[in-house]
Amino acid sequence: MAPSLRFFDHHEEQLLHLTLGFTAPHPTTFYKVKLEGAHFAPLPPGPDLIGTAPYHPYGPISAVIQSSNEVPRLAVKGVLFLETDVLQQESAERMLKEAMFYADHLEELQGKLVPRYYGLWHAPVTQWGGEVLIAVMEWGGMRLSAFLHSEIATLARRFRIAEALDELHDHGVYHAQIGVGEERHVLYNIETESVRFVEFSDAFAGHICGRQLPVRLFDSYPSRIQFGCREAYSIRQCLDLFGNRVRNRDDDQMNVALMHMQGLLARGVSRREALHLVGCTIDHWRTLPEFQLKRRPVTENSIPLSGDEMQIMKNY
Ligand SMILES: [Zn+2]
Repeated sequence: MAPSLRFFDHHEEQLLHLTLGFTAPHPTTFYKVKLEGAHFAPLPPGPDLIGTAPYHPYGPISAVIQSSNEVPRLAVKGVLFLETDVLQQESAERMLKEAMFYADHLEELQGKLVPRYYGLWHAPVTQWGGEVLIAVMEWGGMRLSAFLHSEIATLARRFRIAEALDELHDHGVYHAQIGVGEERHVLYNIETESVRFVEFSDAFAGHICGRQLPVRLFDSYPSRIQFGCREAYSIRQCLDLFGNRVRNRDDDQMNVALMHMQGLLARGVSRREALHLVGCTIDHWRTLPEFQLKRRPVTENSIPLSGDEMQIMKNY
């Protein structure tokens, strides 16, 4: 059965009037799609919505819904010509899968790490693209690719983005489309200093993150295997947190951090706490101008611990 038929059969009562003004001056009526077992927040009340662009008439559409005092800024993505276009029908299937993932696994993260999601909306007939299916969500900010090429990409903000992905992983969510070349799935809102991940059609739940290093700036790249989580590695790569040196066995700070992490895990410290403690230790090293790691024997016992950490370590 073509997806279009299913959408006709599953209209809820909620309506949305959306205008993409530059192609069709009159609002198009969308019906909310009912998905069995899925609940999405109702759209914020307000006047008809007006999309500003960009919008591609023969591919997936995306548009930003302009903000007003009454309506927070929203984003729309969707597919056109569902009645005839097989590729668009396949994209619609992915949108369905994503909608279910938002409902099943992202409910508590909406408005925090992922956009608030308002469900799928269907228009049987439009002036600008035949039969159309859209997903409506909170506007998340600028794409990571644009962010990284601007002056606002400070180290503190890059850390915030990497920490956000680590947090997503700590909730068991593996995005599966994050990395170099896929920067569009990471958004940064400069007004609210917040990070949002989007596009969850390949994501899965139940990820147990094995990352071995906290979010810090290093001089070199660990191997992916040493690092322990492919996606957490990839976001650090995008954000240039591993510096410019190629992987280097002589990077003592990284090697000792990895060794320290292993030692903490072996003592039964939780991974989350171990990452925090290793981070504290790295910060501590970096406040010690006289500390020349290379001149010391690199053993676990030679790691200088911060005061906080020594206190905590007494418990283990
Ligand atoms: Zn992970």
